[in-house]
Amino acid sequence: METAQPPGAPALTPFSLTEDQIAIQEMALGFATDTLAPNAMRWDEEKHFPVAEMRAAAALGMGGIYINEDVGGSGLSRLDAALIFEALSTGCPTVAAFISIHNMCAWMIDRYGSDDQRKSFLPKLCTMEHLASYCLTEPGAGSDAAALKTRAVRDGDTYVLDGQKQFISGAGVSDIYVVMVRTGEAGPSGISTVIVEKGTPGLSFGANEKKMGWNAQPTRAVIFENCRIPVANRIGPEGIGFKIAMAGLDGGRLNIGACSIGGAQGALDKALAYAQERKAFGSRIADFQALQFKLADMATELEAARSFLWRAAASLDAKAPDATKLCAMAKRVATDTGFEVANQALQIHGGYGYLADYGIEKIVRDLRVHQILEGTNEVMRMIVARGLVGRAKGN
Ligand SMILES: Cc1cc2nc3c(=O)[nH]c(=O)nc-3n(C[C@H](O)[C@H](O)[C@H](O)COP(=O)(O)OP(=O)(O)OC[C@H]3O[C@@H](n4cnc5c(N)ncnc54)[C@H](O)[C@@H]3O)c2cc1C
Repeated sequence: METAQPPGAPALTPFSLTEDQIAIQEMALGFATDTLAPNAMRWDEEKHFPVAEMRAAAALGMGGIYINEDVGGSGLSRLDAALIFEALSTGCPTVAAFISIHNMCAWMIDRYGSDDQRKSFLPKLCTMEHLASYCLTEPGAGSDAAALKTRAVRDGDTYVLDGQKQFISGAGVSDIYVVMVRTGEAGPSGISTVIVEKGTPGLSFGANEKKMGWNAQPTRAVIFENCRIPVANRIGPEGIGFKIAMAGLDGGRLNIGACSIGGAQGALDKALAYAQERKAFGSRIADFQALQFKLADMATELEAARSFLWRAAASLDAKAPDATKLCAMAKRVATDTGFEVANQALQIHGGYGYLADYGIEKIVRDLRVHQILEGTNEVMRMIVARGLVGRAKGN
């Protein structure tokens, strides 16, 4: 059976959390409430990337959540990470999402890098003294990422990089760029993954993009022009870069899904409080059954998405054969549900929901992009459909 687990794998039904997991959740929630939530709206307005606060999160173990402990990581599970990202996102989905991308890059180095690479890059990534960016998308290759064109041409013990990455989160500020480049033939088997350090001659950045949301983190093009890096910066052998990139995204998708659930939970909590205060037609709006049913559906759909995300996280922890499919399913469900719940929370606030002061429209703006990045939700359907009907021509 497809869902059969490898011998000795942990159980796949995490319907109750352990004491440790509850403690991890409370720690992240405390950080979100004390450090992220009070500043989130200002950071959004000022387009401020809160590096100091992210380092404070890293001091609590959130810079290398599922990184091995020998290089400074916390050695936690994917399910633990899902709890952390949901909790952080109740304070600010944008900052939580960048911490997720950073963790994804660190994991790619931890999982596929050499011992030298792990020891040289990961300690500073785990403390977030160094930040990391994930560079896959290009102007002409988004959903069809295997069509990427950025070239790395070997010259002795160096590679020379030429090309451009688009929409890179953290770009310009990050110290470490985990970059998917073409070292061989067309298609996925000609792709390798390399590390490019900030300050390398030939590495430059585009302007900070003006965006609908995610304003508390920069998004820029990353440009390589005759950019020379050591061959020793390649992660794993040539030709497995696409596999590394996709493996990183399995976990990244869980985290982004968790960020949507946390953001939506924050919006639902605000809507619940508002509905019990706001009066219309002589009573609290919470007394109208139509509104009660709406709130009930929001809470139910959020809980369903959360439970499914935990199931997908447990499958990745267990290295289950269908983990990639479950992560894609969970990413779509969690990010679609999260956006819808946040949007309904805005509706419950009436006109006030549309005003920046109430903090709801920011959540809606932030969660919208989760349906687009780390693979669009159409791409998530493609991944699921491949398992059902096989790979279509051109996909
Ligand atoms: C704020 C932000 C931050 C980002 N951060 C990063 C980052 O850090 N690193 C990184 O590498 N990338 C990043 N991205 C890029 C993101 O992953 C891509 O935008 C996304 O993968 C989609 O690619 P695209 O924009 O080129 O859209 P396209 O691939 O051009 O897709 C356009 C539309 O066509 C649909 N579509 C495409 N192919 C199919 C198909 N076969 N069947 C059905 N529908 C299809 C898509 O779902 C989409 O709706 C970021 C994007 C944004 C907006």
